[in-house]
Amino acid sequence: MKAAVYTAIGQIELKNIDTPKINDDELLVKVEMCGICGTDIKTFLKGHHMFTPPCILGHEFVGKVAETGKNISKSFGASSYVFAPYIECEKCETCIKGAPELCKNKYWIDGAFTEYVKVPVQIAQRAMFEVLQDCPKETATLTEPLACAIHGINRARITCGNKVLVVGSGPMGLLICLALKKMNCDVLAADVDRYRIDAAKNCGIDTKDFSGEKFEEFRQSGISFDSVILANDQKDLVNKLLPLVKPCGTLELFGGMPKNITFEADPYYVHYRQVDIVGSFGFSEKDFRKAFTVISENSQLFSRMISQKVGIKDIKKGFELATDRKNIKVVVKISE
Ligand SMILES: [Zn+2]
Ligand SMILES: [Zn+2]
Repeated sequence: MKAAVYTAIGQIELKNIDTPKINDDELLVKVEMCGICGTDIKTFLKGHHMFTPPCILGHEFVGKVAETGKNISKSFGASSYVFAPYIECEKCETCIKGAPELCKNKYWIDGAFTEYVKVPVQIAQRAMFEVLQDCPKETATLTEPLACAIHGINRARITCGNKVLVVGSGPMGLLICLALKKMNCDVLAADVDRYRIDAAKNCGIDTKDFSGEKFEEFRQSGISFDSVILANDQKDLVNKLLPLVKPCGTLELFGGMPKNITFEADPYYVHYRQVDIVGSFGFSEKDFRKAFTVISENSQLFSRMISQKVGIKDIKKGFELATDRKNIKVVVKISE
């Protein structure tokens, strides 16, 4: 089968590899579409501690069941399904403690920039959903990143009607904004990049330009928010954004930052205003299910986020397009 193999930083090669063989508790799935995620881009450009080349990237995918293991009694027909790339074990200490997104014994699916992947029964039973007729398959690939956005919203303890500032309106920032809008929150998306601001506007979100002096002016204006979500990796913004959070509100580090760095935080806000600095990583089964419902009910709105589609043979071009700020989300078409 064809596979796009990440062979070194900046290198993705189309190779012919063996089609995986399933056991009795697995499905073999033919991948139709797979979105390029921020993590894939980061890995391609700079490397990633979780992905050592050679390996296959891609985890935001839709596909059809090609073969069913003997122990799986359900029949799946010719429909397309969206799959969570991992699911928690529900049994470990972290799962029981209530943080399934950080489960240490997750069931995984291997990289999906390839024609076929194996899906463990746990995912087939709990986190695989049939893509509805009126939802384009490329839009359904947004289920996983939206699940991460929904998890971030929950971690920031945001409730219906809250006033929220999302700093960084790349694909993840935008998904957070769209999910917040669906909760009837008062959302403002901020970025320094003109294309990103336009993209947010195009999705019907109120925006704020933070370029040049404008961020400082905004900070001095006295405006405040129930929650501020930092959806980029700019650690110096943490201290600058803290004064914008209302008492008992939250400032969330949603964007991934490297290990072994430090950021400054004025303790005044943490102590006297009881602002909580929280983090968010990944998603759980519950978030994935919720994301599937939100996308299915609003597929037209979410379709605006898909900027480009490329075939698997042009995947390297797809990665280049995905690094261009003019594009929001790039999806790779793997098979019909
Ligand atoms: Zn992703
Ligand atoms: Zn677990």
